Amino acid sequence: MEGSVGTTHLVIDEPLLFDIGSEGRSAVRFAETKTDEKKLKESFPAAMIREPIEDFPEISQPELVRHYTRLSQWNYGVDTGLYPLGSCTMKYNPKVNEEAAALPGFALAHPHQPEVLSQGALRLMHHLEGYLAEITGMDRVTLQPSAGAHGELTAMMIIRAYFMDRGERRTRVIIPDTAHGTNPASVSMCGFEAVPVKSGPCGLLEPEAVRALMNEDVAAIMITNPNTLGIFECNAKEIAEIVHDRGGLVYFDGANLNALMGIVRFGDIGCDLAHMNLHKTFSTPHGGGGPGAGPLAVKGQLVPYLPVPMVEREGGNYWLNYDLPRSIGKVRSFYGNFLICVRAYAYILAMGGEGLKRASVTAVANANYVRSKLRTYYHLPYETPSLHECVFNDRKQHENDVTTLDIAKRLIDYGFHPPTIYFPLVVDGALMIEPTETESRQTLDQFIEAMRAIAEEAKHSPDVLKRAPMRSRITRVDEVAAARKPVLRWDSFNL
Ligand SMILES: *Cc1c(COP(=O)(O)O)cnc(C)c1O
Repeated sequence: MEGSVGTTHLVIDEPLLFDIGSEGRSAVRFAETKTDEKKLKESFPAAMIREPIEDFPEISQPELVRHYTRLSQWNYGVDTGLYPLGSCTMKYNPKVNEEAAALPGFALAHPHQPEVLSQGALRLMHHLEGYLAEITGMDRVTLQPSAGAHGELTAMMIIRAYFMDRGERRTRVIIPDTAHGTNPASVSMCGFEAVPVKSGPCGLLEPEAVRALMNEDVAAIMITNPNTLGIFECNAKEIAEIVHDRGGLVYFDGANLNALMGIVRFGDIGCDLAHMNLHKTFSTPHGGGGPGAGPLAVKGQLVPYLPVPMVEREGGNYWLNYDLPRSIGKVRSFYGNFLICVRAYAYILAMGGEGLKRASVTAVANANYVRSKLRTYYHLPYETPSLHECVFNDRKQHENDVTTLDIAKRLIDYGFHPPTIYFPLVVDGALMIEPTETESRQTLDQFIEAMRAIAEEAKHSPDVLKRAPMRSRITRVDEVAAARKPVLRWDSFNL
């Protein structure tokens, strides 16, 4: 590989605690005491006294600290480098969000605290709801769902309750082949049948295809917008009219709102329900960085079905309304992941309306920069302009027997987290790149250079790619065995 390209974030190695240290070493040494050990033991219940553990590692404090510090560096995160995972919006999480969430009034608030002592927290939830409603152009928002998929499920429960109330038996939900994989899963979990609809040659959902499927059995359509090709579904409004004409509801999966904030409002293009991901668009940590949140926004006729409680305001007072007779009930303990909401609120306030719009515009510009710089090296299956992410595949590399997996693995050698691969399913061997707006031109150029170097290697030394990654602690793994027979404990090695 070219010496100066890429960084070495993923070059890591660390023995197990059991393999370092030696007998008699310890992290802390206590002063000798005259206490009679036997007497001491007698003063505790026998069950609480631990017997010596065989082979317990004995190590010094520096060994211990270095071990865990180095382990913490194995983790590749948005604080380490570019994380171009398409459909995931791995943007940087500003530290001011963390400071706000750590304020004792928020961090130490107890969910059973009476309303009168929780006015600040309730006010924040009420304001955040208002901002999210404004950003999406919807009427009310529940903050309870813990993730995007959970927001989808909540929406399906609301749709079911809505049609039951109307005495209509609708059993099917239309889902385009460019939708996110969680969509059909949420639909079937709620007892609906997912009806796939093919996107057209431009990667867009076509009104005629929806019209052909639309009848009185269809409860809703779920449109991921922008779809998983990063393409804005520009027929969405017309499609919404087709669905509404036959009495159906329109759901927008807004996990990818990072392309649209301040530019398009779902409520203005026929949407009845939409979720967003605070842990994508609104810069709160994902998964391992903490819990997420997938607030669900709805239009007026669906407000009565939202989960309880809703935060209401009366004069200067905020209160929790549990008295919603048609509500689907609770979908989460208490009020959702409150501290994630605090982080998102801090982000929205810090950015302001103009700032959010600029974030979307920059995210789209960054993705298009990567798209235009890489298109001579990687095949672009859809020419339709795309927004916040771009999807390539491995067609150009096929003649050298190099696949998307090889390219992704080789990126690890260049110090980058690979993009999303083999998704969306409508693209064979997809490489889905979402750089987000928080990356600098220099970082994007470094990534582009690494991708170009890999394309060259694919031509001239494909065997290198087949063996990649070679500079990481663990090289190419048997992915099937790793998934089917994971070895997660040290003692398993000795079996
Ligand atoms: C990420 C994503 C989801 C699911 O969100 P989770 O928080 O991971 O459950 C749904 N739809 C789209 C388009 C997404 O990108």
